[in-house]
Amino acid sequence: AYVILQPCMAEKSGDCVEVCPVDCIEEGPDQFYIDPDICIDCGACVAVCPVDAIVEEYEMNPEDEPFLEKAEKFFGNK
Ligand code: SF4
Repeated sequence: AYVILQPCMAEKSGDCVEVCPVDCIEEGPDQFYIDPDICIDCGACVAVCPVDAIVEEYEMNPEDEPFLEKAEKFFGNK
C-alpha cells in the first residue's frame, strides 16, 4: 500500500483524492490518509501530489513507519 507522509501536513492539496480509482484517500484532521487495506498500489496519487508526500510502504524509511500506523488507526483497521 501507499502511505502519505509528513509533507502533506503543510500542504493538504487533496489532488490525490480525485485521481484514486478505488476512492481510498480521505481527509483527516491533520493530513490526508490512504486506507492501506483498500489501496491497489496503482501509483496514480504519487504522480499528482505537489509535495511528493506519498511513498510505497516498502520504500519508506524506518522513521516514516508511524505514518502507516496513523493511517491504519484513522481507518480503524487495527
Ligand atoms: Fe489510490 Fe492508487 Fe494512490 Fe493507492 S496508489 S491510494 S489506489 S491512487
